[in-house]
Amino acid sequence: MARQTLSLRRRLRKTLRAAGAGVTRYVGNHPLVAGMTGTLVALAMAGLTLLTLGMGRADALDHARQTSQNLVSIISSDLERNVEIYDLSLQSIVDGARDEAALALPPEVRREVLFDRATTAAYLGGAYVIGPNGEVLASQNDDVHAAVRFADRDYFLAHQRSRSVGLYFSHPFHSRLRDGKLSIGLTRRIDGADGAFAGVALLAIRIEYFQHLLDRIDTGKLGSVFVVMDDGTLLARKPFSARDIGSSIAKSPTFELMSARDAGTYEAVSAMDGVRRMYTYARVPGTPLIAAVAPAVDEVLEPWWHRSRIAGVLTLTFGAVVVMVSWLLAFALRDKLRAQAALMRLAATDPLTGLGNRRVLDNRLDEEWRRARRSGQPLSVLFIDIDHFKHFNDAYGHASGDEALTTVAECISAVVRRSVDVVVRYGGEEFAVVLPETSAEGALSVAEKIRRKVQGRHVVQSHGEGVTVTVSVGCATGVPAAGERALDLLAAADRQLYAAKAGGRNRVSSGQGMAPSMAHDPSA
Ligand code: GH3
Ligand code: MG
Ligand code: MG
Repeated sequence: MARQTLSLRRRLRKTLRAAGAGVTRYVGNHPLVAGMTGTLVALAMAGLTLLTLGMGRADALDHARQTSQNLVSIISSDLERNVEIYDLSLQSIVDGARDEAALALPPEVRREVLFDRATTAAYLGGAYVIGPNGEVLASQNDDVHAAVRFADRDYFLAHQRSRSVGLYFSHPFHSRLRDGKLSIGLTRRIDGADGAFAGVALLAIRIEYFQHLLDRIDTGKLGSVFVVMDDGTLLARKPFSARDIGSSIAKSPTFELMSARDAGTYEAVSAMDGVRRMYTYARVPGTPLIAAVAPAVDEVLEPWWHRSRIAGVLTLTFGAVVVMVSWLLAFALRDKLRAQAALMRLAATDPLTGLGNRRVLDNRLDEEWRRARRSGQPLSVLFIDIDHFKHFNDAYGHASGDEALTTVAECISAVVRRSVDVVVRYGGEEFAVVLPETSAEGALSVAEKIRRKVQGRHVVQSHGEGVTVTVSVGCATGVPAAGERALDLLAAADRQLYAAKAGGRNRVSSGQGMAPSMAHDPSA
């Protein structure tokens, strides 16, 4: 008996050491997590790229706005400076025209006195002193035609009407004295000695001045730059169209925005050619002029688009690769885990009866032992062995023996139904049952039910008759105490089984007693 117990203990210790983690535990959602992580990483990459591209777009627009502002201020200061120079000339003409002595000089000398400074101004179409009736009193080029009158010109009427007009910018007009070319007039009123209207000093500025100013500015193929008067009269525009010069853009929504403030930036679709542009404009100080630079939004964003396309394609490609690889890995991992779980299940299952094997017993017994020690509840173990099975095999053959083993396994499983109970095939024709939170009386009753169920079943048919087998059952119950081990409980059940065998088989033996006939544990 002592030797048997020792060898059982050794066997158990070996299997307990060998068995690792829970055999049926499946490594659940890890593949999904791997795939999702890859997908999230790809999405985060895409998000970052989008964010960077978004910032790049804003930067491109910002940069264009700044460039436009610089251009507007260059145009504006050029205009301002030239208007100042023209105004000085005008004032000198006005001063000269008010000087009776100067007007009395012979024409050659008078021209020198009146138009001295004005002759140096660029793009000057002509400089004139116009009398109170619109007639030309003096001209820088001496192109005076007695018949030509200017009394209908807007500047003439404006100065005639009011003393306080100051420097006046006329609308573009076709010159009457020269080649009929388009000019604008810069004028100042000449007051007589008594303060009455005595005429107008006129500088005719060729409209090309504005056009040449803009020609130097590069705004791309679709961009536009223009100078417009504050009433919407277009003085110059690039791209140039002769038809547009002098026309009014006052009705266009873009101009409405522009005339509302001194300077600003906005995006709008041009009423002239339908191109979406970014308008940056500013009023030229001291003049009724507005200078505007309007690069086409598409052109401003073209380099950005180019970069975005490359970044987008790369991000999509890398993202797709990351997602694909992560899901491939995830599926591979899932298959591996499934195979591993199947293997573990296989390794834990007895192929003949479908019950757990000793590995399961080792793990579960240990678990339940520790649980019982914590809870103080009794833990019971049954050891079941088929009686005279060697003879059974001899009589009916091994195939029938296997069939009988399966039937006995079914009988045990049918009796032991609680989910916490563990039924295993311990080996050969021996079975073990772990009954957590079960007292000795409970264990004895379960064992007895098993014994009776087996006895009442025909395990195989032979020559048309049912054949039965019987089992002997050893029960052991204990409340784990310090220093005791699960193996001790198993060994006690084994001893009780031995007692049941010794007592005549087809019976249950426990420390409490024996059924159906009383027996005792010989090792006790
Ligand atoms: P008892 O237990 O009543 O003392 O007698 P026994 O004849 O059952 O004795 P023992 O436990 O020593 O014999 C076990 C026999 O069970 C040996 C073998 O013939 C049979 N056996 C063990 N495993 C299997 C199996 O997987 N299939 C079959 N058919 N028989 C098995
Ligand atoms: Mg045996
Ligand atoms: Mg046996």
